[in-house]
Amino acid sequence: MRPWLIAALLLPSMPALASNDRAVDILHYDVALVPDIAGERVTGQMSITLKATDKDVTAVVLDSGELNVTSVAHNNRALAFNQHDGRLRITLDQPAPTDAPTTLQLHYEGAPPFGLEFAPDRDEVYTVFSTSQWMPSVDAPDERATLTLSLTLPPELKAAGTGRALPSRTLPDGRVEHRWMLASPMPAYVYGLAAGRYQQATVPYGKNTLHLLSVNRSPQQLKQIFARTGDMLDFFADKAGLPFQGDYSQVLVARTIGQEMAGVSVMSEAYGAEVLGDPDQIALIAHEVAHQWWGNRVTCAGWEHFWLNEGMANFMTAAYLQHAQGEAAYQAKIKAWRERVESLRAKGADRPLVYPDWNAPTADDRAVVYQKGAYVLHLLRAELGEEAFWRGIRAYTQGNDGRSVVTADFQRAMEKAAGRSLQPFFSEWVYP
Ligand SMILES: [Zn+2]
Repeated sequence: MRPWLIAALLLPSMPALASNDRAVDILHYDVALVPDIAGERVTGQMSITLKATDKDVTAVVLDSGELNVTSVAHNNRALAFNQHDGRLRITLDQPAPTDAPTTLQLHYEGAPPFGLEFAPDRDEVYTVFSTSQWMPSVDAPDERATLTLSLTLPPELKAAGTGRALPSRTLPDGRVEHRWMLASPMPAYVYGLAAGRYQQATVPYGKNTLHLLSVNRSPQQLKQIFARTGDMLDFFADKAGLPFQGDYSQVLVARTIGQEMAGVSVMSEAYGAEVLGDPDQIALIAHEVAHQWWGNRVTCAGWEHFWLNEGMANFMTAAYLQHAQGEAAYQAKIKAWRERVESLRAKGADRPLVYPDWNAPTADDRAVVYQKGAYVLHLLRAELGEEAFWRGIRAYTQGNDGRSVVTADFQRAMEKAAGRSLQPFFSEWVYP
């Protein structure tokens, strides 16, 4: 499995938009989706609660992919809007106040070309990043909001979604409305869901529950595949200095390279089969679990600092393998990363970890972020020693929980733990 390929799907659709370009802060999305799995379409209605961050804000711009927005209203009064180049521009009827929230109501429908994947042969639908392809939203990673999500499905389907599950409701026509609430603000790109004709296993984890879902695998097989999840959550919670919050669902879907969403990870059925055949092949499971802290709770503020998500998730995966499988498993990862960095160098494709922009990354750029990023964290571990390194990681994670970060935030925390400037190290490896 090559989780670094995620970027290939994730990034082209995500324009970099600095928060001050938006002039609004999104506070909450309330989204109700009705997928038509056989028709590979979706209908949605939502309300967006936002606050203006500047005076005289008379327009709100959201990413809306290829969705067709059919109406926008404020206090039941229709608002003018238009859609161009994947953006929805809404004209407000009066300037949005800076001291009170404004709530807009939207209706939309569409047949997303990506972002919402349909597998009709399995009665399955699931998200693959690109949240704006299934709900108008701000794609930029530095915009965090809470979410209530509802998904209406035929009664024979099971579902997992971002946030804490609320009781589902059976509608008069027999369909079931599944609901979740995400109470801590998260970037919209980690919102998601998976629904299908699943078999399911549940495993208690402290006061929370682990949910395991798959079309192909029996509950017993699911427990085998994900046998280490609780141990992974414990390990990363300890390294982060932050306990895991909420329930966690792991879903094997028709096709994916693996993806972290808030409280939900999806991997492919093919990967599940691989783990069933060789219980040591758990790196991708660990990578996605690690993202629950590094990526989801502590998020790069812009994609130019993407190594803080992906290099960190890869490094933490190796640290987990060292704990679970021994030193040789860790060293095997280090060797693979070092060889990748050497091959990047040999072909002149080596780059510092922080990018000037991330608008058209190549496969080599992704290798820099995912693999060199992890390798540099290993080098920093060697430079600082065990005690200071992990103290720095913990301070960085605790100090930025629920925040968007840039590389300077990481450097500052590690310097504080080291008790000295790390500028020479960061100049050599990290900054352009
Ligand atoms: Zn990742």
